[in-house]
Amino acid sequence: MRKEIPYKIYLRENELPKAWLNLRAFMPKKPAPLLDPTTLQPITQAALSRVFCDELAKQELDDTSLYIPIPEAVRDFYKMYRPAPLIRAYCLEKALDTPAEIYYKFEGNNTSGSHKLNSAIAQAYYAKEQGLTGVTTETGAGQWGTALSMACSYFGLDCKVFMVKVSYEQKPFRREVMRTYGANVTPSPSTQTAVGRKILQAFPNTTGSLGCAISEAVETAAGLDGYRYVLGSVLNQVLLHQSVIGLETKTALDQYGVKPDVIIGCAGGGSNLGGLIAPFMAEQLQGKADYRFIAVEPASCPTLTRGKYAYDYCDTGKVCPLSKMYTLGSGFIPSASHAGGLRYHGMTSTLSELYAQGLMEARAVEQTSVFQAAEAFARVEGILPAPESAHAIRVAIDEALECKRTGEKKKIVFGLTGTGYFDMMSYEKFHDGKMSDYIPTDNEIEASLKNLPSLAR
Ligand SMILES: *Cc1c(COP(=O)(O)O)cnc(C)c1O
Repeated sequence: MRKEIPYKIYLRENELPKAWLNLRAFMPKKPAPLLDPTTLQPITQAALSRVFCDELAKQELDDTSLYIPIPEAVRDFYKMYRPAPLIRAYCLEKALDTPAEIYYKFEGNNTSGSHKLNSAIAQAYYAKEQGLTGVTTETGAGQWGTALSMACSYFGLDCKVFMVKVSYEQKPFRREVMRTYGANVTPSPSTQTAVGRKILQAFPNTTGSLGCAISEAVETAAGLDGYRYVLGSVLNQVLLHQSVIGLETKTALDQYGVKPDVIIGCAGGGSNLGGLIAPFMAEQLQGKADYRFIAVEPASCPTLTRGKYAYDYCDTGKVCPLSKMYTLGSGFIPSASHAGGLRYHGMTSTLSELYAQGLMEARAVEQTSVFQAAEAFARVEGILPAPESAHAIRVAIDEALECKRTGEKKKIVFGLTGTGYFDMMSYEKFHDGKMSDYIPTDNEIEASLKNLPSLAR
């Protein structure tokens, strides 16, 4: 075993995982099944395959295979930007004057700037394998659309992205990155789809919403031969692909005999956190370890901390399967938080079930304190974090400061999901003191939860 821990632990290329870890298969009590939105019965693979690629529909329903091999072509692509480094935050530890050891797994080392590429490349691969022509998707802030554009160009697939109109206009740089990789980017709502035309007729001046963009993407895929719809978070398949984050993290820590006490990640739909904790939670479920896991969410969109555990639609358009999850209601519109990737009303079913079983903690943090943490981190560690990632930094710092009070030498690991170069407008608001910390009232959340679908079960 090697002793002195370097600033960066880089794995060798041949240490890149050969299989993804399917966390649900390790759970004695499984998450509740997905329901078909038309019949409200557990969804079949055949029904799922009408929306998603065949192999992805299969992965979506698989809760028995412990590991699923990573196709060689996907591993080859991973090799261009993985294994990702696990960084010992020596400088942050020193700045905080904490006895704690802090480590972070950095997923921003690729052009799309986040972990989303880990699943985008897998989804594009299976679409290509099936002989499809292309895929459609929606994007809000643009991280997912960017990652998918890169993945599709690599495999020669057409990529149609419906981008929420307000982002399309306000985030021209992300839009142009997507176009650089050959994607077709349409501001949503558009006149290309029936649902888009209907919305435009009713609300000519609308700036769009994620729900509307999803509906346009699904309608477009359904109407074109050789196309399927793909999604960047929330689904089981996405969690599966993101397990590469946790597997690499565990291999790197094991090489130095480091056993973490606390593992922290930001949670939007839950894919990076689910991926990061996967091998650690698997150990925990087998009674081999005793870790603490913390999901960090924005106080403006407090899915786990204030939502309800119930069946709900995964999308505002109500076309995707229903999932039993912590939710604020599919119609919940969070205030304009700057962490676009965390503005999702629900939480992936696996993490929801683990949270319900008391195996994971959750914390909601306010925006200004998140940006304070982001800036403190950037100034000592160098990396300019995405606002989403900074939610995890906030809680990692809080845990390290708690260690300073108690003198405990805890080992803290967190996921740094991406870089914030496209988020400088948010940093500007923070620097100019114009950032708000809106927290929804109980009444607002209750009102939204009244619209949960009523099911017999
Ligand atoms: C999308 C995104 C997230 C949140 O998504 P999860 O599915 O919860 O992981 C977090 N960080 C960044 C940088 C993102 O782009």
